[in-house]
Amino acid sequence: MNKTQLPSDIHFIQRGWFHCNHVVVQDPDGPIIIDTGQHTGVEDTVALLQERGIDPTAIQLIINTHCHTDHWGGNARLQALSGAPVICGPKTAEIFANGDTRAMWVDYFGMAESYELPSPMILPSKIIAPGDSIQLGRYSFQILAAPGHAPDSIALFEPKYGILLCADAMFEQDCGVMNSKVSGEKTLDEALTTLARFKELDATIALPGHGPIITDVAENIEAVSHLIRLFQRRSDKHARHLCARAFAFSLLILQPIPRTKFLTMFEEAPWLHDNAAILGIPKPTDLLAKLTEEFIQRGLVQDNHGILTSTIPL
Ligand SMILES: [Zn+2]
Repeated sequence: MNKTQLPSDIHFIQRGWFHCNHVVVQDPDGPIIIDTGQHTGVEDTVALLQERGIDPTAIQLIINTHCHTDHWGGNARLQALSGAPVICGPKTAEIFANGDTRAMWVDYFGMAESYELPSPMILPSKIIAPGDSIQLGRYSFQILAAPGHAPDSIALFEPKYGILLCADAMFEQDCGVMNSKVSGEKTLDEALTTLARFKELDATIALPGHGPIITDVAENIEAVSHLIRLFQRRSDKHARHLCARAFAFSLLILQPIPRTKFLTMFEEAPWLHDNAAILGIPKPTDLLAKLTEEFIQRGLVQDNHGILTSTIPL
């Protein structure tokens, strides 16, 4: 078998950007889903599963890789349909138990008031810790710690087939947001350590949390490590990477929204303050206006009579 192709009993469901991708492993006792997307638009998730012949009511297990809402927002709906338990890593379980919106970045992105957390919060019924193995269908996956983008993140690796579920630790030629202000100054170092750990696995195929399947895994690890080392040297590059994603995430949640409202509602948002300072922009709201203009020029945001909407796929 060509090892850069996924076996037919593992589905990779690639979403746009707002929702995470889903990985589904087929098993005679029912499908197992890794990461469930945002709660808003969860019916699209259900429909996408059905389109691929996956019965959402038959799901036997839900696994979450980390605590960001785009990875677990669909838990409640999928559990209501199937009764499936949720399992996750130990640090994610702690964040869920505490309803820690800081760790989930809701506070940092200034969304505490405008973003309603998925509810009810489903607490995990079991923990999978780094070092454990878990049988998913006919595959035995090793659980790895994958801090960097999220300190609580786990990755799953199947050595026989060389399949790595890397969540947001690595995308195709990119990585998830590196949020040193929330996750600590060691974030970038940890991200590099995670990538070095991935390199040792010799994976032939990596399934990221966002974006397409990665088949040139070793080369991709090099490229992403290079990007993170660039962030270590150049705080402005790091700030711009974070700002573009925080901006897009915020607009996708709030759209359609009047431009005048959008441009003033993040006055207190930590991400805007911190990164305006790094980029040498005296007024944080000027940074927001600048990002809006840039996104409009790139065709990623439309301003129709003062109402902003995004063209970024969900
Ligand atoms: Zn994430």
